[in-house]
Amino acid sequence: MSIQDNIRAVEREKAEAAKRAGRKPEDVLLVAVTKTHGPEMINEAIDAGITDIGENKVQEIVDKYDRVKPVRWHMIGHLQTNKVKYIVDKVSLIHSVDSFRLASEIDKRCAKIGRTMDVLIQVNPAGEAQKSGVPPEEAEPLIREILKELPNLRVKGLMLVAPEADDPEDVRKWFREVKALYDTCAAIEDPHLSFEWLSMGMSHDFPVAVEEGANLIRVGTAIFGARDYTKKEN
Ligand SMILES: *Cc1c(COP(=O)(O)O)cnc(C)c1O
Repeated sequence: MSIQDNIRAVEREKAEAAKRAGRKPEDVLLVAVTKTHGPEMINEAIDAGITDIGENKVQEIVDKYDRVKPVRWHMIGHLQTNKVKYIVDKVSLIHSVDSFRLASEIDKRCAKIGRTMDVLIQVNPAGEAQKSGVPPEEAEPLIREILKELPNLRVKGLMLVAPEADDPEDVRKWFREVKALYDTCAAIEDPHLSFEWLSMGMSHDFPVAVEEGANLIRVGTAIFGARDYTKKEN
């Protein structure tokens, strides 16, 4: 199957899951995760209708940025404070904010170039040590602190990387928990709060995530095939 065929198949599944959840297919944004893949494949996806791409490494964004057709870039991976400066002028949404320190650095770098940045708070409800993200109970305090202190950030929602499971049904409870947290945080009374995105669901579990309320899914393998981390793409 071609990249275009794969995208159509993912969009179909996304649409069916949205319908099951009583929502419109177009209300769920598909972000194509392009990590490890070169500009040629990414441009093929863009030609097939992809408007948003996600990368998890600063270096890959920097390397590919000028070789990819116009598209919205999403930073979906762990972001080190000292690398923020390389991407603030390139990305539309940073999904992986999980500390006030990182948020402050983004704010500072955005002030320098006169832009605001949309960010999501990454949560880690299963407490997985190897994953980024704040414990659920720290999400609301972090959002309140950002609202109070960092004028160049707009907190637009939450992001989850669900624990791995052979059966996507096993992760339904995490999607449900994060949706409930999303609703709680979205109700914070503040004129500057504008929640819009609940980013959860990947290749193997996005239909379940959409059923549970995700409106942004991050899909790599189902579009581009398995990743080869040993191959050096150009
Ligand atoms: C790689 C990655 C994805 C996509 O995973 P697939 O299983 O290939 O769809 C989604 N989100 C994040 C944060 C990732 O790093």
